[in-house]
Amino acid sequence: MNNDWRLTNQMNYLHKKALKKQAFKVYKEGWEHEHCEFCAERIDKNTQVAYSSENNYHWICEKCYEDFKDMFEWTVEE
Ligand SMILES: [Zn+2]
Repeated sequence: MNNDWRLTNQMNYLHKKALKKQAFKVYKEGWEHEHCEFCAERIDKNTQVAYSSENNYHWICEKCYEDFKDMFEWTVEE
């Protein structure tokens, strides 16, 4: 898992963070979509379940959340 292609420097800013589980929300006017911090999958208004940092700035798709939750030790608010 440590050699996963999706891992770059996310440990620097996502380790042990509190995440919010939610449908996609626009972070800022005009940014109508985001990309998963890990796999770069598009996250947009059609996304019903994703995980975001508390300020809605970083987004993680459901699959990457499952794959990396143990490594990153996230806590989640529904
Ligand atoms: Zn992803």
